[in-house]
Amino acid sequence: MQDRSWRQQRQEGVVDRHAVVVGGSIGGMLAARVLADHFDQVTVVERDQLPEGSENRPGVPQARHLHFLFKRGLMVAEELFPGITADLQEAGSHLLDQGSDFRILYRSGWSPRKEIGLEFCTFTRPLFEATVRRHLMTNPKVLLRQGFEVAGLELDEDKARVAGVRLRPRHRDPNAPVEEELLAAELVVDASGRGSKAPDWLEAVGYERPEEMVVDAFWGYATRLYEPVEEYKKEWKTLFIMNRPPYQPRAGIIQPVEGNRWIVTIAGVMHDYPPTDEDGFLQFARSLSSPELYRAIQKARPLSKVWGYRRTENRLRSYEKARLPQGFAALGDSVCAFNPVYGLGMTLTGLEALELGKCLSHGRGTLDTRRFQKRVSKLVAGPWALTTGEDLRWPTTQGGKITAKLKLMHWYIEQVIRLIPQSEDVFRRFQEVNHMMKSPAALFHPSVLRRVLRQAFGPRPVYARPKEAAARVPASTATATSTVAIRR
Ligand SMILES: Cc1cc2nc3c(=O)[nH]c(=O)nc-3n(C[C@H](O)[C@H](O)[C@H](O)COP(=O)(O)OP(=O)(O)OC[C@H]3O[C@@H](n4cnc5c(N)ncnc54)[C@H](O)[C@@H]3O)c2cc1C
Repeated sequence: MQDRSWRQQRQEGVVDRHAVVVGGSIGGMLAARVLADHFDQVTVVERDQLPEGSENRPGVPQARHLHFLFKRGLMVAEELFPGITADLQEAGSHLLDQGSDFRILYRSGWSPRKEIGLEFCTFTRPLFEATVRRHLMTNPKVLLRQGFEVAGLELDEDKARVAGVRLRPRHRDPNAPVEEELLAAELVVDASGRGSKAPDWLEAVGYERPEEMVVDAFWGYATRLYEPVEEYKKEWKTLFIMNRPPYQPRAGIIQPVEGNRWIVTIAGVMHDYPPTDEDGFLQFARSLSSPELYRAIQKARPLSKVWGYRRTENRLRSYEKARLPQGFAALGDSVCAFNPVYGLGMTLTGLEALELGKCLSHGRGTLDTRRFQKRVSKLVAGPWALTTGEDLRWPTTQGGKITAKLKLMHWYIEQVIRLIPQSEDVFRRFQEVNHMMKSPAALFHPSVLRRVLRQAFGPRPVYARPKEAAARVPASTATATSTVAIRR
């Protein structure tokens, strides 16, 4: 049970300090990049065999679905891997303006069409991952152990510090005895995603599982790739038809990706999962609040089957409150996985990786685990409140609480959304918060607040409950719809 190569190197004085990252996806790679500034060697352990190019792999099932990177996330990626934006563009990614290239149908109307200087990057997720990996692997301090899964933590003799991780080959003869290997490390960073087993590992060595909070609105995705036809005239590069809480659960988005393709994701909340058969996919698209998405894909040529995905709950593990051994840290979806519909995961993971670097610099290369996890919890607190708050608009959402503060937030954001179609300024400020360029406090800027207050005393909006949407809401949610009336 030992990693001879590393031990040998250490004995020879070649390697002094070693960090292990669990998971070789976006979180793991960004963490490894930062750790390489502070350790002599960083080993990324990934259970999958990683593809050479930009292909899907089993360990990241979400990668078949629509992914984009907000401006702040792209800035972080560029800071850690200079030149990555240009590489992505060269590979066919699109850098689009959130105002002029994107049409969004909010429940109050279409978003204004004006350049607002907030670029977001669109790609298939495997392309983004492959590009990050290519940049990362140019760093001579980073090693990749693929096809191995971490099975637990090892502590040092006084049980106060992590001494390494236990590894197993992913694919092994089920009849053969399990052979484990100890990979010694001074720091172990868990970036193994939403399904992380780190709470079990901590418990197994006598430490605490973090408290866990789940808020689930029961969203489901269905995604298909298309080749657009040139003759199809449109006023957008990306189209987003939003749903309308609490009655119309369905949404859809078309996004251009590399290879002159569209990735089309349709989604439903409150268990209204989109079908994955061809006809069902089209009918679901047809039932959105605008026919535009259906019209566009009807003309386009399908390039793939339809893939489904339902693991969309918001999940927060409060590591900052748990008693942890020194030398253990966690980031990315392993700490806070958001409902993906808000598109925040990779941007926040990037910000957490930067924070890891700052904490290591502060400790002159030694990580104060509690300090780091507190910083992570601070970073995710605002986005967590916004995303779970929005999910709690749906009557069947489980977890979380509708408090007086949340009701006020719902009311305020509703006013802001009502203003969006009429005001470029409000739209830009709203998107600056989405892109994480500004804190949610920016929504209370006097220019927005003044408009909100003026509007609040004016006529109320009338959102017709679309007949077809009402009929479509599954029976199990029908009573819940009236719950909303009571809650409000
Ligand atoms: C449907 C969907 C759409 C999304 N869209 C967006 C979007 O548009 N924009 C955005 O910013 N974010 C989006 N996200 C979120 C984004 O996918 C994640 O936030 C991002 O991938 C960071 O996750 P991670 O690296 O922490 O975990 P993951 O990407 O889940 O990776 C975990 C890695 O750990 C490996 N692993 C797991 N266990 C072990 C083990 N024991 N040993 C070794 N390896 C292990 C896995 O194989 C995997 O490679 C979306 C998520 C979903 C579900």
